[in-house]
Amino acid sequence: MKYMNTLDTNTNEEKRSLSFVEQFVEDDIAEGKNGKRIQTRFPPEPNGYLHIGHAKAICMDFGVAEKYNGVCNLRFDDTNPSKENNEYVENILHDISWLGFKWGNIYYASDYFEKLWDFAIWMIKKGLAYVDEQDSETIAKQKGTPTEGGVPSPYRDRPVEESLELFNKMNTAEAVEGSMVLRAKLDMANPNMHFRDPIIYRIIHTPHHRTGTKWHCYPMYDFAHGQSDYFEGVTHSICTLEFVPHRPLYDKLIDFLKEYDNTADNLNDNRPRQIEFNRLNLTYSVMSKRKLHTLVDEKFVSGWDDPRMPTLCGMHRRGYSPESIRAFISSIGYTKFDALNDVALLEAAVRNDLNKRATRVSAVLDPVKLIITNYPEGQTEEMEAINNPENENEGTHAITFSKNLWIERADFMEDAPKKFFRMSPGREVRLKNAYIIMCTGCTKDADGNIVEIQAEYDPNSKSGMEGANRKVKGTLHWVSADHCVKAKIREYDRLFMVENPSADDRDFRELLNPNSLKLHDNCYVEAFLTEKHPGDYLQFQRTGYFMLDPDSTDDQLIFNKTVGLKDTWSKTINK
Ligand code: ATP
Ligand code: MG
Repeated sequence: MKYMNTLDTNTNEEKRSLSFVEQFVEDDIAEGKNGKRIQTRFPPEPNGYLHIGHAKAICMDFGVAEKYNGVCNLRFDDTNPSKENNEYVENILHDISWLGFKWGNIYYASDYFEKLWDFAIWMIKKGLAYVDEQDSETIAKQKGTPTEGGVPSPYRDRPVEESLELFNKMNTAEAVEGSMVLRAKLDMANPNMHFRDPIIYRIIHTPHHRTGTKWHCYPMYDFAHGQSDYFEGVTHSICTLEFVPHRPLYDKLIDFLKEYDNTADNLNDNRPRQIEFNRLNLTYSVMSKRKLHTLVDEKFVSGWDDPRMPTLCGMHRRGYSPESIRAFISSIGYTKFDALNDVALLEAAVRNDLNKRATRVSAVLDPVKLIITNYPEGQTEEMEAINNPENENEGTHAITFSKNLWIERADFMEDAPKKFFRMSPGREVRLKNAYIIMCTGCTKDADGNIVEIQAEYDPNSKSGMEGANRKVKGTLHWVSADHCVKAKIREYDRLFMVENPSADDRDFRELLNPNSLKLHDNCYVEAFLTEKHPGDYLQFQRTGYFMLDPDSTDDQLIFNKTVGLKDTWSKTINK
């Protein structure tokens, strides 16, 4: 796999050259294909939640339709009831909307079960399909290898009548799962393994989330996907590279379908064109739904929306904006070779976007008391805090200043080196939005731990005053001890310890980072944060971006750390 770790800085969409997919689409439009109509689809199987890999496909499918004035529909590829359900359908719809896309229609492969069944019957009658009564292992063994032809099934040439009767039997409650399959009769010697009499129907008795117990026999992906594209009038069926070897079969089955479907539609050039691009793979993560299911089922994470998950709902909960995910996907682009994308690029895109959106607030994660000894006891002042220096229109909010404050423990050092621009006895710093203070000393407990720091403030140095112009090297954030709120903070690290867990021989569960979640139980945040909700983008000044977690209650605020600031502070404060 090629390792990609550069951020494409060409953000000017106009200048960006066409992706190869767009080039194909433009060629088709230029040739006047499909009456220049563009129709795409995003075809999730409702057997899990969407992850950032799906977002890449979504951005392509919807992006092409939008760019060329076409439509992108949703189609749930629901052909395996044993793994699918409505909860997944609902969440997929929700996550696509959250990403910012609008679909045309919602279709289901299960809408076509009847049509597909009839088409399969036609295939049998034409001598193009037969029922095989061997078990799946035997069938797999007979497939041969890419360089060696396969062995024909002993049932390959059974009479059409027999296959028809057995196919009907396959669709009854009495049929035993695995006892029979329907196979397309193609070419057991074809170098393309997908042509060696692929299985096109199998018996499944688990009730289907939409059709209930009506069916006992379900089409395989290859017998449903292309046909569904055809039924809907999809013009460009965009998918990922693993489907390249399926394409000849995709085209072949559409040939048969056009022969079978002798309607007026057949007279035009209605034929979906499959185009493949590379999957998204992220460092320190996994994308396989099977593995994500395991993480959830075996409780390695709190759920599909655990903020460490690569799922869209996890990223949403963590505080990633949909815009940042789309910017990241646009920056990595679409190619014809598989790559591993650096998660740091995603984080950079998140930071870049949240810098424009986040409200700046004050929160102290690892607090130590700071007493302003010359500030009157009981006095308070409402300081003006700018909500977002990137956007003046967002105005200001008030933060209360008083004699007793909390600051970060890491912002004080008793014997500090020269370059330590924070608090140390005899040195001046500014308190953000407030005064310049001079540190005068600290108090320790019997074990030598610092329990309190003292300082004096300069009453003429309030931000905005004349005396405020004096240069001080450091600015610290703070909250007032009597005017703040307690909070818990969940800080996240990479879910996996190795860069590419999927390429590792060990069980992926052994590769999990045991320190991917760090709890800060004793944080203080400014009172303004009680007005915030999950979904509000926040920057805890000098620390990082944060979002309120839905687990919060009126009595207990809980924040998720979205991503640190790209700032030298982050090294000292966050580690
Ligand atoms: P499964 O592991 O169950 O096959 P899948 O990841 O292929 O799952 P689907 O629901 O079948 O999931 O995927 C829907 C669409 O999303 C498909 O077109 C697929 O190609 C695309 N897709 C899935 N994973 C990625 C990925 N990592 N990068 C880009 N596109 C992806
Ligand atoms: Mg799939």
